[in-house]
Amino acid sequence: MNTVPEPVERAPLLALSLAELETRVVALGGRAFHARIVRREVLERGVLDYGAMTSLPAGLRSALAEEVPLLGGTEVERRVAPDGTTKLLIALPRADDTPGKPATVETVHIPSRKRERGATLCVSTQVGCPVACPFCASGLLGLTRNLASHEILEQYARGRALGELGRSVVMGIGEPLLNYAALREALDVVHAEMGLGARKITVSTVGFPERVRRAAESAPQHELAISLHTAFDEQRDELVPAMRGTPIEEVLDAGDAWFVATGREITYEIVLLAGVTDTPAHATELARRLRGRRCTVNLIPFNAVEESPYRRPRPEDVEHFKQSLTDAGLVATVRWSRGLEHDAACGQLRARA
Ligand code: SAH
Repeated sequence: MNTVPEPVERAPLLALSLAELETRVVALGGRAFHARIVRREVLERGVLDYGAMTSLPAGLRSALAEEVPLLGGTEVERRVAPDGTTKLLIALPRADDTPGKPATVETVHIPSRKRERGATLCVSTQVGCPVACPFCASGLLGLTRNLASHEILEQYARGRALGELGRSVVMGIGEPLLNYAALREALDVVHAEMGLGARKITVSTVGFPERVRRAAESAPQHELAISLHTAFDEQRDELVPAMRGTPIEEVLDAGDAWFVATGREITYEIVLLAGVTDTPAHATELARRLRGRRCTVNLIPFNAVEESPYRRPRPEDVEHFKQSLTDAGLVATVRWSRGLEHDAACGQLRARA
């Protein structure tokens, strides 16, 4: 009798549907409506401890604590920047992960700068990323696996625990359109139970045309940003390797189809790499490609990544780039990143760990 027991994987709270949770709650001596209260405490109020859910009977609180893990993952690192931006490195272990190599992702809680209500939460959709953009820390190690929808949702619960959320960007680790079913399942809950409207959630993708079109037809409750980065086809093949061979024009046509189907404008993101994508010729070609399309442009000055051959653009070049788009009649904004001192920039906690 020396068989090693299989690790018993207990589904965490957010992996249970409401109906499943009701069944569990009743089996533990509670009433079905207590299940809704539990979810509300976690998702609406960010209470991550059954013991603190004082609107539940004490017996049920302790039974739940014994029987249903509130979260599936563990926070392994937390970095708080001077402006309050908080970056979490979360391990999400699963039985099918390589032993000794727990899956980790990053989630970032960015307090609002203006008087806007609530913070912005940046979430991950995959453990690693298969796209392999050479300027991005997340692609360095390749793809380990997709996140389950409850693992995406867990990031929202942890983010809510850090403070009220007003917006969310799906711009963490991973390519969202390669794990879109799980993402949509999570976002439907975020929408319905956390009250974040479609215009408050932005999903960022490299823009696989067929996937963009399919997403557009599925009544998405979110905005879409496409990481274009350059208006030159050969250069895009280098900067977004997983899309090698897909003409930029096809990406833009899919973006147009998104606008027609949803009535929401695409945001095209351009990472500005000094001397590589930030030149006047790049701005001119981008303006030519986007002329007449319903869209906006978001310029992202490169954040230095360790051992990267790329450099941050000069502020005056960023300004010129923006101005030439504006002169061509486009709407352009610049996103200087925050809370990214030292090695805490996008994807770097995980890359280092
Ligand atoms: N896979 C999705 C989400 C990635 S992150 C996508 O590519 O859109 C969101 C944005 O940050 C993308 O536009 C990505 O290209 C950009 N990005 C990645 N690394 C960066 C860096 N070091 N500096 C600036 N922007 C970066």
